[in-house]
Amino acid sequence: MAHVVIVGAGQAGASLAAKLRSEGFDGDVTLIGAEKVPPYQRPPLSKAYLLGEMAEERLYLRPEEFYADQKINLRLNTRVVAVDSQNKTITLSDEEVISYDDLALTVGAHPRMLPASVGGMLDGIYAMRDLSDADAMAPALVANKHVLIIGGGYIGLEAAAVAAKRGLKVTLVEMADRILQRVAAPETSDYFRELHRAHGVDIREGVGLDRLLGDDHVTGALLTDGTELEIDFAVVGVGINPATILAESAAIAVDNGITTDSHGRTSDPHIWAAGDCASCLFKGERIRLESVGNAIDQAEAVARNIMGRDEKYTPKPWFWSDQYDCKLQIAGLNIGYTDVYIRKGDAPGVQSNWYYKGDELLAVDAMNDPRNYMIGKRLIEACRSPAPAAITDPATDMKALLKP
Ligand SMILES: Cc1cc2nc3c(=O)[nH]c(=O)nc-3n(C[C@H](O)[C@H](O)[C@H](O)COP(=O)(O)OP(=O)(O)OC[C@H]3O[C@@H](n4cnc5c(N)ncnc54)[C@H](O)[C@@H]3O)c2cc1C
Repeated sequence: MAHVVIVGAGQAGASLAAKLRSEGFDGDVTLIGAEKVPPYQRPPLSKAYLLGEMAEERLYLRPEEFYADQKINLRLNTRVVAVDSQNKTITLSDEEVISYDDLALTVGAHPRMLPASVGGMLDGIYAMRDLSDADAMAPALVANKHVLIIGGGYIGLEAAAVAAKRGLKVTLVEMADRILQRVAAPETSDYFRELHRAHGVDIREGVGLDRLLGDDHVTGALLTDGTELEIDFAVVGVGINPATILAESAAIAVDNGITTDSHGRTSDPHIWAAGDCASCLFKGERIRLESVGNAIDQAEAVARNIMGRDEKYTPKPWFWSDQYDCKLQIAGLNIGYTDVYIRKGDAPGVQSNWYYKGDELLAVDAMNDPRNYMIGKRLIEACRSPAPAAITDPATDMKALLKP
């Protein structure tokens, strides 16, 4: 009987295993995860879970019995240390060797951490990737303590929002000229800077961390502008590196993540990849999408392709972020945009920012504006681009833009 082995029991791995079964795959399925807990959703880790508003079990993508019911051999707390693509085997950390017919790498990514030379070895420095990171940080979230957040991307901003809501003093430093510079237009950065400042967060842009100070536990930070801060702990949100080590050691091609073709296949015909660890082609460019939507869609396409369906995977990017009472929803990818058009809603804080490349609509950032998010998403997926003047004109009936 065919045996599919999936390495990495996160969002993509769990989706792949479940899809194999729901599509009728009747071979053996083994899902191997290094973490102790069943596959779970990561987004609440920097939102409701960190705020203490969500129980751990609610993070789980499916109850643990699901895997046994579906005859998915779920092996938790188990790390794969080597792939032998010639003999089609993998080796676990306890030296057990398992054979596969098809192997899927859904190993996610590692958060970038600070080197010891800038104080990265001190206690009181937290990452934001795994459940264990959130659990380690939660006890530090005590009102009136001072936290330094390093990095003004979505993870750093979400951590800042949680800390501010819990009554901490929050300073966020972003080395680039503005927060969200890598992922969003200045108009979106402006929106979130205002939002955070209104909640008392001290955002410093164009300022990096020189080094963290302290003997064993971090007690301070020296910033690149010479400022010294007294802090109680620090959160590092400076991005992630795709987990490529297994692929590299098996001589599988890697290019900004494990290289996959339009079907999710790697350079080895029996090895596939999906989720944060995988790069894929989008409009002729090799990209890597760090989002739940991509992890699910790409993994499900891989499941069908392992079953011989010959399905081309075309990413339909979407993403969200929750900060305070603001829900940001993003549709599309803004890579290469030339112009941004703003549509303000009727209520304060309701806004959508529309990215164009010339006449082509690329992406929408919708803040507390689910209606325009859905309209934008449908337009982008249908490759339709309304005239920018229609977007900015308050009199435009946006829904009418969807009519053929
Ligand atoms: C704090 C946080 C907030 C986020 N918020 C959002 C959001 O609001 N919206 C959104 O769309 N996305 C969000 N994301 C991103 C989203 O969670 C990821 O894109 C998604 O989890 C990727 O799924 P994945 O399966 O590729 O990787 P992961 O979910 O990281 O799963 C990979 C798994 O593989 C395991 N693994 C790695 N190597 C091995 C090995 N050798 N052997 C065995 N197991 C291994 C890892 O332990 C891990 O459990 C957030 C991410 C984080 C960390």
